Amino acid sequence: MREPGPADLVVTNARVLTMDDGGPRAEAVAVRGDRLLAVGTRREVEALADPSTRTLDARGGSVLPGFVESHMHLFMGGASLDKLAVDGIKGLEALGEAVRRWVASHPDDGVILAVQAAYLLAGEPLTRHHLDRVLPDRPLALYAFDGHTVWANAEALERAGLLHGRVLRPGNEIVMGADGLATGELREPESFAPLLALTSTGGRESLGLTTGRDPDPPPSAVERAADRATLARGLAWCAAHGITSNHNMDGNPYQLGLLEELDDAGGLICRLRLPHHQKNDMTLDDLRKEAPAMRARSRPDRLVADFVKVFVDGVLDSTTAFTLDDYCGHPGHRGLPLFSAEQLDAVVTEADRQGFQVAIHSIGDAGVRRTLDAFAAARRSNGARDSRHRVEHIEVIHPDDIGRFAELGAIASMQPLHAPGPLSYPGHELMALLGPARHPFSFAWRTLREAGARMCFASDWPVSPVDPLLSIQAAVTRQPWTEGLPAQAQTLKEALAGYTRDGAYAAFAEDRLGRLRPGFLADLVVLDHDIEDVPPASIKDLRVQLTVCGGRVTHEAVA
Ligand SMILES: [Zn+2]
Repeated sequence: MREPGPADLVVTNARVLTMDDGGPRAEAVAVRGDRLLAVGTRREVEALADPSTRTLDARGGSVLPGFVESHMHLFMGGASLDKLAVDGIKGLEALGEAVRRWVASHPDDGVILAVQAAYLLAGEPLTRHHLDRVLPDRPLALYAFDGHTVWANAEALERAGLLHGRVLRPGNEIVMGADGLATGELREPESFAPLLALTSTGGRESLGLTTGRDPDPPPSAVERAADRATLARGLAWCAAHGITSNHNMDGNPYQLGLLEELDDAGGLICRLRLPHHQKNDMTLDDLRKEAPAMRARSRPDRLVADFVKVFVDGVLDSTTAFTLDDYCGHPGHRGLPLFSAEQLDAVVTEADRQGFQVAIHSIGDAGVRRTLDAFAAARRSNGARDSRHRVEHIEVIHPDDIGRFAELGAIASMQPLHAPGPLSYPGHELMALLGPARHPFSFAWRTLREAGARMCFASDWPVSPVDPLLSIQAAVTRQPWTEGLPAQAQTLKEALAGYTRDGAYAAFAEDRLGRLRPGFLADLVVLDHDIEDVPPASIKDLRVQLTVCGGRVTHEAVA
């Protein structure tokens, strides 16, 4: 038993949502060291304060468990904060203005990389010819918001050695034109990795995603310091949004090393998990060697490398997501799977045998099925265990597969801001590619939940903004795409659970994180108003007043 008082920190006069069924609401919380000391009435908790205690009056604002962001890319997110973002830009003229303004203030010899580009930014598929008009004399590339496509001008293609095409592994494509040259559209990471390597950051922030391998040659001390600073900026951005735990969805030993250095210097201000990323050019021997080597470096509840990430397919927008039926308007085309069924079964079975959780990016219904099949294959080989394997995204699912999540104990990891809508993106092209028959099973949050799937929610930052409150608003205000489709909106409690308790479950940490309960790790967020009391359409306007991770204040709003 802990001795009563004094607390280091007391937050009082709050609407505390504990996310704990045993005691869902309270008025105040007390923290001592890295743990929650008490959660209760104002009177009970204030009794634990003495003159050395910091007391914060929440003025009726919500206190919640610190947000768990279950799918994000910290390194790329941190880097994106310093890049030209072209989201919201429509048409080539506006793009040209933005690029020219950027170039004037960022004289730089490398390839200029703009981020957050929309598909069909020009109203039609972008080609090098469009971008040559935007910036004829310097290499320019646009990174799609989802990280799966890059569009480049001729100069950039030439410098990266891509203008004449190149042989790639399955699932990646340099789109070639009738003139025998690359059109400028580069689909999936292997196709554009040589181009990212020529940007000002050397593309190092993307390697955990594009290759799963370390930079070669090893970065200089100066580059390492720059990369650590990028990660630190990303962490501060997360903390400012109330996030205390991150599930990073790309990885390599280099990135783990940078995070260790940050942690040693006291700068790891969010808990972080990161994976060994098993790409389709890696062997089972790579998996056997590299994944356990990363796991052995884990620092419990701070920096943990306890899972394996795999991509089974691409994305719907570029028709690289793997589908059971043809894309509408593309007869005979069903995407570009990255792994054969046999190859995926072997990877998942081996990772499962070694006790790893496996998280598989699966967007098309055929990709989701192949992933669930692999989870089933692992279970047949290794026996059932509490594996909590995860399917990432699930943008469309075949009805026959919906019940398999509960059957296999698999987690549906979904992103409220990926469904088309007023807070995300219009999505008309994407929904047209799917066609009405698949709409009832697209972004089917409620359908999956009702079938017993465990869910966690996330942003996939920098694909979507990292702000959990924006995501939560998108989850609770979702409207059916067309009349008659099943409602997929979430209740506020479900959406909050997806960002707290259920995110902790997805990390095997539900006995110490994700709820506010005495003895749990002291991760919490204080909002400026009561989230249950504001209209759902105003959730995104709430402000994070204070973020506490392991008892340490990691963000505080300036008064
Ligand atoms: Zn992702």
